[in-house]
Amino acid sequence: MTDDLLGRHRSVLPDWLALYYEEPLEITHGEGRHVWDSHGNRYLDFFGGILTTMTAHALPEVTKAVSEQAGRIVHSSTLYLNRQMVELAERIAQLSDIPDARVFFTTSGTEANDTALLLATAYRRSNTVLAMRNSYHGRSFSSVGITGNRGWSPTSLSPLQTLYVHGGVRTRGPFAELDDYDFVAACVDDLKDILGHTRPPAALIAEPIQGVGGFTSPPDGLYAAFREVLHERDILWISDEVQTGWGRTGEHFWGWQAHGRGGPPDMLTFAKGIGNGMSIGGVVARAEIMNCLDANSISTFGGTQITMAAGLANLNYLLEHDLQGNARRVGGMLVERLRAAAAGVPAVREVRGRGLMIGIELTKPGTDEADPAAASAVLEAAREGGLLIGKGGGHDTSALRIAPPLSLNVAEAEEGAAILERALRSTS
Ligand code: PMP
Repeated sequence: MTDDLLGRHRSVLPDWLALYYEEPLEITHGEGRHVWDSHGNRYLDFFGGILTTMTAHALPEVTKAVSEQAGRIVHSSTLYLNRQMVELAERIAQLSDIPDARVFFTTSGTEANDTALLLATAYRRSNTVLAMRNSYHGRSFSSVGITGNRGWSPTSLSPLQTLYVHGGVRTRGPFAELDDYDFVAACVDDLKDILGHTRPPAALIAEPIQGVGGFTSPPDGLYAAFREVLHERDILWISDEVQTGWGRTGEHFWGWQAHGRGGPPDMLTFAKGIGNGMSIGGVVARAEIMNCLDANSISTFGGTQITMAAGLANLNYLLEHDLQGNARRVGGMLVERLRAAAAGVPAVREVRGRGLMIGIELTKPGTDEADPAAASAVLEAAREGGLLIGKGGGHDTSALRIAPPLSLNVAEAEEGAAILERALRSTS
């Protein structure tokens, strides 16, 4: 960074933008599952898939759709008819499994969750909501108010009355020693206990697998068990699919589907890589919930023709190339490979994952104590080796996060695992 981009960044942008790496990276271009930095170094990208790029960097199908649309028109999508928006909404409504679904497009996951909360609180006439401990839902005033992960919720003031439920983190705390069955039962008891002492909440919002929280692994069925309790009390269930949607978890298209019985949530929210770099977020809700607002609402940039064209091209690619199946196959192989690699590394407490959403929890060897310094060291070492990964976790950032674009192939998975194995060994 010859022009001191970092110094300029620090002098003009907020301190709370948390840059990765002692020497932060400027990524200048990408192709497929690889990116290059401003020094010309090439990296295998095991993190961008959960951020911006669901399928592949610079996917020609998306690039073409975006540039053609940019040369044609980008105009308000909420005041005039917009063919691309209708088409993408139809596709997502159908994929969601939510009966009589309506879709509202936003520009981010934060705004999608904001909208879901607006709808839930208006529909149920209650500003009490349930959220999960350790959750992350965004950084607007209301989505920070339902973010249980303190490291990411910079204010404790909130327009909502939020109550936090157990079920996110399993690796430590009073529930750590329980098997799946007892864990679910204990979490359901916790939920019932909370409900016995509060005004009727509008909704429970939850990530099926906590993303920023470190790719946690709730037992299958947890949210179905919650659902029964919620259903009896007319409390809505909002599934935040911002990280778990679009087949990333391999077995399922949406994260909630791992929880089986009980059917789809009342609302789901999505964002991130669906636009493969263009800003798309949104809410899918049953019509009676979506239509409960009695005033008009618009979004200037939600659903613009250019973002919708990107989303359609990207979704078509995902479905035509069965990237969900790819996530299942390549992700399954990668998680096994990483488990084998981690077996000889005492700092690794757990390798967990579904599809191409894999977390590696690091603790001080032989203890339950989170080790954020070890996570940072592995991140640096992996970068040295030519691999970008992410980190996350509960109140301490001690989990490594692996979420490549969904088109990752076996050779790349093998290459990334070898780099990560060396990084884990060299730092422990
Ligand atoms: N929900 C979840 C589960 C997320 O992981 C994120 C982003 N990390 C958000 C919501 C917020 O999305 P955005 O950054 O697009 O506002």
